[in-house]
Amino acid sequence: MTIFTKIINREIPADIVYEDDQCIAFRDVSPQAPVHILVIPKKPIVNVENIGDEDQMLIGHIWLRIRDIARTEGLSESGYRVVVNCGADGGQSVDHLHYHVLGGRPLSWPPG
Ligand code: 5GP
Repeated sequence: MTIFTKIINREIPADIVYEDDQCIAFRDVSPQAPVHILVIPKKPIVNVENIGDEDQMLIGHIWLRIRDIARTEGLSESGYRVVVNCGADGGQSVDHLHYHVLGGRPLSWPPG
């Protein structure tokens, strides 16, 4: 079980900004921008490599909620970035699929 499952189960605290039956969004404990929210499926998918064809609706749902969360956080006009790290070279540190929503300042490119 990852730390994100413990957040879903309310076993450890988190600053939750959105939740429904399929996904939950909470503020990153180590924010890299003024707004840094993690959006995760409640289903414990490890990473992009482990998304199944049967998860198509779930993944689409998460993207629509990311859009809504960005609007709620006031990022729609200024812009923002959605990042999904996958595996060792991708810099993934928690083995539960998560979408970083980063905004509130200009973000440089390319990433490190
Ligand atoms: P990754 O490096 O896997 O793409 O991202 C994992 C993210 O989870 C990191 O940005 C890290 O700060 C965040 N994180 C790790 N543990 C916790 C926690 O217990 N609570 C919250 N809110 N975020 C966490």
